[in-house]
Amino acid sequence: MPPKAKKEILVLGAGPAGLMAAIAAARHGAKVTVLERMPEPALKLRASGGERCNVTNTLASEAFMEKLGRQGRFAEPALRVMGAPYLREFLGKLGVPTHAPNGFQVYPVSEKSSDVLNALLAEVQRLKVKLLTGMQVVELIRDGERVCGVKLSKGHIEANAVIIATGSCGYPALGGNDSGYALARSVGHTLVPVAPSLVPVVTRERWPAELAGVSVADVRVWMDVPGQSKEGMRGGLLFTHHGISGPAVLNLSGAVARLLTKQFAVQLRLDLLPEETVLQTLEKLNGWRSKAGKKSVAKLLVAEGLPQALGRQLLTLAGAEPEVIAAELSAEARDHLANLIHHLPLTARDTEGFKRAMVVRGGIALRDIISETLESEKLWGLYFAGEVVDIDGPCGGFNLQWAFASGWLAGLAAAGALPK
Ligand SMILES: Cc1cc2nc3c(=O)[nH]c(=O)nc-3n(C[C@H](O)[C@H](O)[C@H](O)COP(=O)(O)OP(=O)(O)OC[C@H]3O[C@@H](n4cnc5c(N)ncnc54)[C@H](O)[C@@H]3O)c2cc1C
Repeated sequence: MPPKAKKEILVLGAGPAGLMAAIAAARHGAKVTVLERMPEPALKLRASGGERCNVTNTLASEAFMEKLGRQGRFAEPALRVMGAPYLREFLGKLGVPTHAPNGFQVYPVSEKSSDVLNALLAEVQRLKVKLLTGMQVVELIRDGERVCGVKLSKGHIEANAVIIATGSCGYPALGGNDSGYALARSVGHTLVPVAPSLVPVVTRERWPAELAGVSVADVRVWMDVPGQSKEGMRGGLLFTHHGISGPAVLNLSGAVARLLTKQFAVQLRLDLLPEETVLQTLEKLNGWRSKAGKKSVAKLLVAEGLPQALGRQLLTLAGAEPEVIAAELSAEARDHLANLIHHLPLTARDTEGFKRAMVVRGGIALRDIISETLESEKLWGLYFAGEVVDIDGPCGGFNLQWAFASGWLAGLAAAGALPK
């Protein structure tokens, strides 16, 4: 009997999802070619986590899926084949041990994204996967109900299976574009409207720009809008030249961006000292009058975790002099200041858009994709992996974990390596 022909698989996109899909399929005997439109692979992976690469986190699968929101359960089969512990073991075997310095976010021990990328590229090379850069796929070729190849700007390539791992349209400078959406739509998939997420927020107020670079370690930010959760997001805050950013704001930004498609502005509120109440803060301000009357209030606020420049700004907003000493802060201003510290109003008039969106909310609708294999229900032999589909997570390694896990599952499924 002649030897069984190798399955030929094309992976579109050499990001974390595409590289992982290629490795999974090649390890199971498939002949794999990865087509990447940029001159270099995985620019987002390289830039991730400020080049420290927050690959995953320590949450168990159930809690992880909850953080992915309404679509979280779709990720279950992918997390079953490559959950965080398996991903860490996989990277460790490729020579990239990982650690979780804060007990939650997982990074390579070297804290270098290039180590993760180089390990994946070395494995791709070891497995004789062909990685072709500067290749723009323009069309899927079908044979009846099955995909059988792709058209490039010049020529075409035949295949038994095609994996779309082209990522989202966020951060175009790092490869983001909407060609994956167009390819999927051309064979009948639906696109859930996309919105920027994990993106800085532009405020109507101009004073945050004067504090650009100032940060607060722990705040709570929420949308003060009927029907929206008042719980909001908790984490760091960073003032920018256009408004606000930092993990708490980034994690809320997808919902803000969605609302901004329907209304001109979104009212935000910030609690700058979420561990105490307005009353407790007011008591503290009152107490300072006798205990530290000669000290500047802005300086006293530093010990509470609020940088001096922010304290000065809050005092101005409260109608007091920025340099006022505790003994001279009027009862009215103390009241106002305590309220501002816990309900600081800011108006989001925009986000910094897809150009600065670390991820994108929306994407290829999940309803036409089989979660157990990530195969298309519209065209057999077509698979999806990574951010191109309608799944996104908050800051903290959720998006890379999804890219790696979904790539792994799609690669195994396309190679026919999943148990029946
Ligand atoms: C600055 C930044 C920092 C981030 N930091 C983190 C972090 O620390 N932790 C985390 O979990 N997430 C982080 N993310 C998000 C994470 O990087 C992405 O969610 C992840 O890279 C998505 O992986 P992917 O493989 O699906 O898509 P991508 O990484 O976008 O890769 C898709 C690839 O496909 C290529 N491509 C697109 N269209 C075509 C086509 N038609 N033909 C061929 N190739 C094509 C693109 O050029 C790209 O190389 C960050 C994102 C950014 C922008």
